[in-house]
Amino acid sequence: MKLLIDSLRAVLGEASVLTEAANMAPYLTDWRGRYQGRAMAVVRPASVDEVATVVRLCGERGTAVVPQGGNTGLCGGATPRGGEVVVSLGRLDRVRAIDTANNTITVEAGCTLAAVQQAAATAGRLFPLSLAAEGTATIGGNLSTNAGGVQVLRYGNARELCLGLEVVLPDGRVWNGLRGLRKDNTGYDMKHLFIGAEGTLGLITAAVLKLYSRPRQVATGWASVAAPDAAVALLTRLREKIGGRVTAFELVGRPALDLVLKHISHSRDPLAACSPWQVLIELSDTMESDLASALQDVLAEAIEAGEATDAVIAQSEAQALALWALRENISEAQKVEGISIKHDISLPVSRIPEFIDRTDAALTRAFPGVRIVCFGHLGDGNLHYNQSKPAAQDNATFVAQTDAVNRLVHDLVASLGGSISAEHGLGQLKRDEILLYKSEVEMDLMRKIKQALDPRGLMNPGKVI
Ligand SMILES: Cc1cc2nc3c(=O)[nH]c(=O)nc-3n(C[C@H](O)[C@H](O)[C@H](O)COP(=O)(O)OP(=O)(O)OC[C@H]3O[C@@H](n4cnc5c(N)ncnc54)[C@H](O)[C@@H]3O)c2cc1C
Repeated sequence: MKLLIDSLRAVLGEASVLTEAANMAPYLTDWRGRYQGRAMAVVRPASVDEVATVVRLCGERGTAVVPQGGNTGLCGGATPRGGEVVVSLGRLDRVRAIDTANNTITVEAGCTLAAVQQAAATAGRLFPLSLAAEGTATIGGNLSTNAGGVQVLRYGNARELCLGLEVVLPDGRVWNGLRGLRKDNTGYDMKHLFIGAEGTLGLITAAVLKLYSRPRQVATGWASVAAPDAAVALLTRLREKIGGRVTAFELVGRPALDLVLKHISHSRDPLAACSPWQVLIELSDTMESDLASALQDVLAEAIEAGEATDAVIAQSEAQALALWALRENISEAQKVEGISIKHDISLPVSRIPEFIDRTDAALTRAFPGVRIVCFGHLGDGNLHYNQSKPAAQDNATFVAQTDAVNRLVHDLVASLGGSISAEHGLGQLKRDEILLYKSEVEMDLMRKIKQALDPRGLMNPGKVI
């Protein structure tokens, strides 16, 4: 161990190899505080060559490595389990190139998502990936978890926004696949192996990302609907009338909204009547057009058709931000309320109403008093379907039911053709549970890929597979 630390220090310098408990502490636990890991060291390389050398040196001694970006992941993927070297990518934070004619940006893995959005904006372009942790989450982490966020409906998730990658492989070689091509049919598309792999197949050190024209017009609205099937009908109507300009369509259940109103200061319900469900709608257009009027017309039709019961359209950027805050603060409000059991699931949009009806009923029967906090990216078929404990129950009793609650929820998801992880990944949290839901053939293929790239199992062990 001392020999490895000495050689890492010789390459990276004293200051970039942390071994003191206090210095390592922030890297050894996850954002939710669910996992507490141990590591031999935390290293902070500053270039792709340094990353490759770290991986080679660790490999020579049979020491595993754990890639880490902003450490905002929600499945414990970046938390070491014991004895590994954590490789923090935060110092690889250069924007290497922007090509406005090709609409691409080449960035290093440790750039925060917010920094990439800002660099794109400075060049007069849009990088559309957007999520609440964007000030801290890094591009390397976004790609490794195939992050989603609030604009997937229009622009796709991280996988769809990536054209090329640079990766340090488990044997220390560097694969330079930094191609800015939208067409490249020259065999297997290797980048897709590393995107969503949660650091189990290699360390992403840089990426070529797609850029878009910046919208000139944005319209934001908030509508109440009686039930999830009415929300799906409204989404279908919007897409038929307004097409590709629908950028976000978020569902917010009443218990979720009530938590925000209770715990987040200055928040208020935008509508007078209390409704069980609401949707947040955003339209955007790169051409000058009257989007607010278009949204108003569709919402009026939806009210006439009985799909929506009431609606408002933001009249200013401040009002639009206030509507978004109601949606973005749900996780924070739920955290303040107390512990909860969380599910990040996806389904075909058409099956969501049935899922909510059946799962709500089954949970309420099996766990009397449980509070269901449901919200999410309805336009992408992705729900955050969470349970807060009954007011009178103690934490320990509630937590002891986690496996039973998960089984009930995830079995229903699977029976309706869904996924038990829509955008957060598997990490350590769902590594074992996925075995219940993926076919033996698919697990076998995953194991073979892992074996081919990382035969010694030194790349983020104990995660995903
Ligand atoms: C408040 C909040 C809101 C969130 N909202 C969303 C959301 O809307 N949508 C969504 O999809 N996620 C969301 N997340 C989850 C999280 O932000 C994303 O998963 C994010 O993409 C993780 O980036 P990171 O840099 O923090 O990665 P980390 O947490 O550091 O790592 C995540 C995983 O990727 C691996 N990894 C990290 N960097 C690399 C690299 N360079 N090469 C190889 N592997 C690497 C790690 O080993 C780990 O397995 C949210 C999280 C928080 C805290």
